[in-house]
Amino acid sequence: MMDSKEFMELESIHGAHNYHPIPVVITKAEGPWVWDVEGKKYLDCLSAYSAVNQGHLHPKIVKALKDQLDRVALTSRAFHNDRMALYLKHLLEICGKEFTMALPMNTGAEAVETAIKMVRRWGYEVKGVEKNKAEIIVCEENFHGRTTTIIGFSTDPDATTNFGPYTPGFKIIPYNNLEALKNAITPNTVAFLVEPIQGEAGVIIPSDGYLKKVREICTKNNVLLIFDEIQTGFGRTGKMFCHQHEGAIPDVMTLGKALGGGLLPVSAVVSRKEIMGVFTPGSHGSTFGGFPLACAVGDAALDVLVEEKLCENAAELGEFFIKELKTIEHSRIKEIRGKGLFVAIELHEKARPFTQQLIEEGILAKETHDYAIRFAPPLVISKENLEWAITKIKKVIGS
Ligand SMILES: *Cc1c(COP(=O)(O)O)cnc(C)c1O
Repeated sequence: MMDSKEFMELESIHGAHNYHPIPVVITKAEGPWVWDVEGKKYLDCLSAYSAVNQGHLHPKIVKALKDQLDRVALTSRAFHNDRMALYLKHLLEICGKEFTMALPMNTGAEAVETAIKMVRRWGYEVKGVEKNKAEIIVCEENFHGRTTTIIGFSTDPDATTNFGPYTPGFKIIPYNNLEALKNAITPNTVAFLVEPIQGEAGVIIPSDGYLKKVREICTKNNVLLIFDEIQTGFGRTGKMFCHQHEGAIPDVMTLGKALGGGLLPVSAVVSRKEIMGVFTPGSHGSTFGGFPLACAVGDAALDVLVEEKLCENAAELGEFFIKELKTIEHSRIKEIRGKGLFVAIELHEKARPFTQQLIEEGILAKETHDYAIRFAPPLVISKENLEWAITKIKKVIGS
């Protein structure tokens, strides 16, 4: 039997060092809990960056996957399959009546790439932008994925160093700054791509009304608004989608993570026909995108969110969680912020020693950008389990 240390050493020899994981080797999981190879139990407060909103190995989603495995797994889009149409209809119903067309992909980055291609083509064919002049506005500190095009407009040196040359056509402005958006728009601007809350940047929540004003500015200038809800979507912030807190409906949404119910990479772009209609046969695709297993899992993942009222649970428990955290009095705390079960404690000192202590207490949380600790447990978490976690967090952060 190998122990945690041996697994980590072997991984370090044979696996590329493109992550700096917390030193825990997980072997088993259920609901909000995971166990390491030594049998120690932890509360998962990262939820695979919100890909496990429904909890680990949710029985209904696992069953949907197993049942589909008795029928057909993969067809490619060279043929139709009997799962995709109903799944996309279901997804669009969840997204709201403004969204009438969807394009299935696998990873979040692919969904973002799809959205980029779509709004560029829309710019040339519908808006009338001159060939190869399309501009997309994005924000500083954004996180939209890891492909060469996407990292080209990242402002994080870890993500960009020595990966150039970068794809042109992107303009970077400060987040939460309406004047900067207005000033950046030109006749060639086709879209503004933005996260409703910046997750990887450390759960950065824009001012009240920002999303609504952004919507107005985009509408006024015939610029498409893309919300990347890959991490904020599917209940994380206490609503099905984060933009619903402000009733600011985008033209395009990129979705992923929890759409795969914690089992498979399942992503999608949703929009409406006058925009998504720019795709023609051969212009875009993915071998696995919309494969029957993904559709079965996506359907079940959506059902679980609704049936188990996970948005409501996130709203209720999130409010309680933040209120409790705000009772911690310690000079090392700079700010406590969050929406739903998307919460961060920002410190005046480096966060890693505290995440390390939290691990010892049985809580898996990860620091973002050195000074903040993000808490994003699965949305199936009970109040009792959350109270247990709060006691531990208070002990570690408050003393
Ligand atoms: C995780 C994430 C992505 C990328 O998703 P992958 O599945 O890792 O490619 C894109 N945008 C946001 C906001 C994310 O949180």
